[in-house]
Amino acid sequence: MEKQLFNEQLALEGGEKTVQTTFSWPIFDETEVQAVAEIVRSGRWGNPDCGEFVEAFEQEFAAYCGTKYAVSCVNGSVSLRLALMACGVRPGDEVIVPPYTFIATASTVLEVNCVPVFVDIDPDTYNLDPKAVEAAITERTKVIIPVHFAGLACDMDAILDIARRHNLRVIEDAAHAHGAEYKGRKLGSIGDVGSFSFQSSKNLTSGEGGIVVTNDDELYRMMASLRNVGRLDGHQWYDHFNPGCNYRITQLQAVLLSHQLKRLEEQTVLRNRNGRYLTELLSEIEGITPLSQTPDDVRHCYHLYIFKYNAPAFSGLSRKDFVARLAAEGVPCSTGYPHPLYKQPLFQNRNFLCYAIPETVDYSTVDCPVAERACRDEAVWIFQHAMLGSRDDMQAFADAIRKIQRIVTQS
Ligand SMILES: *Cc1c(COP(=O)(O)O)cnc(C)c1O
Repeated sequence: MEKQLFNEQLALEGGEKTVQTTFSWPIFDETEVQAVAEIVRSGRWGNPDCGEFVEAFEQEFAAYCGTKYAVSCVNGSVSLRLALMACGVRPGDEVIVPPYTFIATASTVLEVNCVPVFVDIDPDTYNLDPKAVEAAITERTKVIIPVHFAGLACDMDAILDIARRHNLRVIEDAAHAHGAEYKGRKLGSIGDVGSFSFQSSKNLTSGEGGIVVTNDDELYRMMASLRNVGRLDGHQWYDHFNPGCNYRITQLQAVLLSHQLKRLEEQTVLRNRNGRYLTELLSEIEGITPLSQTPDDVRHCYHLYIFKYNAPAFSGLSRKDFVARLAAEGVPCSTGYPHPLYKQPLFQNRNFLCYAIPETVDYSTVDCPVAERACRDEAVWIFQHAMLGSRDDMQAFADAIRKIQRIVTQS
């Protein structure tokens, strides 16, 4: 397969791109356009009493996840906040979170005046390491937030076991994990609450949006009330019982989500098949280590396809320069988070504003070496919409990496 070694040129330096496909997202057709247009014509845009399309989508999403309830809201940060509030956390309580995730997983903990406790990830999965979780529990710990990072299930048996023994709540941050599964169950449906985002980049999107799912009657009632300015079903519009806000979505978002949800299963199957194939291909390349292949009872939905990059196999080419070359070859990719979350100025400088975080909390000494390594040296992400490509596209991703390797190790 070695071809044209002499005049082969990187796309970054004017050569031909290895990957010719253009990957687009979101994916929609006239069905979505018509559905939104009909709502616009009806004038029923908002949801004074939540709206029939909002309720319909909530029921569809709960059914898809296999839960009793779903409560939609404005985004996947607010959904975490609703879940935390409903779990009854008190100021100063500790919430265990991974440091390798989007800021919302930890910043929503601050928003309820609780203390994010960062626990390192497992080097094979980039998900919370259950042994490290157990070691971080104190008498102040109230909640664990496992993030199913990239769409790969956390070790939920181990996490639920820890939670049961220590009487903790489990909120699954499933913002990457629509349609992914663990032992036959949809992610988000396993802990006390599952939280999802419908922001533009996510595997199910309406531009912005979020949702929580649960089987617990009490948690459901509280989250529905907090989402709707503290109102309760069966009471008057201007009666407020709980300290919520208006976090409701519009009918336009809900109808888009209903149609997008119909596409999710097929898209998830495709990303999963492509991800498994890409792992086979990339495992053959020196210096490229895909995160471990998932067991058969786990369905990865590849919100991100992640592999570890080892610069010495590429003549010391920095990861940043490698990713710039790979992107130029036509692979939608990134180096991901620049730092573990605790390194953000928010935490290092204690910019907590009005939040009641105890003075003794000090993030300057936190060190999670696996997350540090992932951020600094190792991780390369390929985005979910590229995982909707063909089998040939996956082959082309691998070819693009081999091309870069050939060129940089020759010069
Ligand atoms: C996107 C994301 C969120 C928050 O979602 P928004 O809808 O952007 O507020 C939370 N957690 C993780 C892991 C995410 O990737």
